[in-house]
Amino acid sequence: MRKLASVQSVNAVEPIPNADAIEKIRVLGWWVVVKRGEYQVGDRLVYCEIDSLLPERPEFEFLRASSFKPEQMGASGELILPAGFRIKTVRLRGQVSQGICFPLTILPAGTSADEGTDVTEALGILKWEPPLPIGMGGKVKGLFPGFLPKTDETRVQVLELMIERNRGKTFYMTEKLDGSSFTAFLREGEFGICSRNLWMDESDASNVLARLSIASRLEDKLRAIREQLGFDLAVQAEVIGPGIQKNKYNLKDVALRVFNVLNVDAYQLLDHDTMLTVLAEIQLEPVPQLGTIVLDHTVDQLVALSEGPSVLNPKLQREGIVLRPRIEEYDEEIGGRLSFKVINPKFLLKHDD
Ligand code: AMP
Ligand code: MN
Repeated sequence: MRKLASVQSVNAVEPIPNADAIEKIRVLGWWVVVKRGEYQVGDRLVYCEIDSLLPERPEFEFLRASSFKPEQMGASGELILPAGFRIKTVRLRGQVSQGICFPLTILPAGTSADEGTDVTEALGILKWEPPLPIGMGGKVKGLFPGFLPKTDETRVQVLELMIERNRGKTFYMTEKLDGSSFTAFLREGEFGICSRNLWMDESDASNVLARLSIASRLEDKLRAIREQLGFDLAVQAEVIGPGIQKNKYNLKDVALRVFNVLNVDAYQLLDHDTMLTVLAEIQLEPVPQLGTIVLDHTVDQLVALSEGPSVLNPKLQREGIVLRPRIEEYDEEIGGRLSFKVINPKFLLKHDD
């Protein structure tokens, strides 16, 4: 679990044009708008990332009018996410602000205030997730299997050191689509499908992922390519279309766009070129390919690069971009494959509700 809330220090303080009550501070790779004079460079503070869900406690009550989210209940009445205050991207006097800062005094007694300390649990903070799209329910077979990697991506704003280390390396860039994560796999002869967090029943047609998997003949395709390559494979894709994230791309039917192909036997992701070849062979479409860049950017420059129209619907600002090296590699800081997302702030301001 990534650190939603942590002890950090202020890297820079800058004025905001035409604003005298507020200013912006730099924490990690983020800009946050705060009251003027509240923090100085070098001050330590508690920083909560966007998509933190702060608990209903007196110290967070000032957020009620702007940020309250009611509890989310599951189909059988179980609690999925408690009520709380959701931190999102906002624009104040023209300045994009991402996250929220508190003085260290907000920490419960006994909590370490060393830089980098994860205080997510100490503050009772959870990760905000939008309610599950209708049609994503259905018979569950289990949790997301341990023999497959999760599809999460790390935000570039917490990876400034990684960027330094990889300066000069070529990365390929894809459009980040705003749908729902989906995995289909073969393992020891068994075919299965998963949503972001669950292993779903592939034959339960009440679930949109099962219907899609049947309509796209995914099982046949995976078996055919297994014959050819000699190992079990999984494809991981974004599902987009009617009923999912407001169908921003205006599709007539639910569709999938692949961003990972895995050698399940070796627990190894195929390199980019190989992946595209395999996908062409089984006629599955990849996520939109945006070419390559040689990494020589600051976080702010990457954020600027993330802005632009979606390939799938040019009237829409894309959700962002995902960057990866052409040959898969492990990154210590990320704690997994070298890959990261840069979310387009224009998209967040418009669509992230
Ligand atoms: P987030 O949606 O912010 O949680 O970011 C991670 C998710 O982005 C992954 O779980 C994927 O489902 C999804 N995603 C959409 N487009 C891409 C892409 N081009 N590359 C990798 N992941 C993607
Ligand atoms: Mn997403």
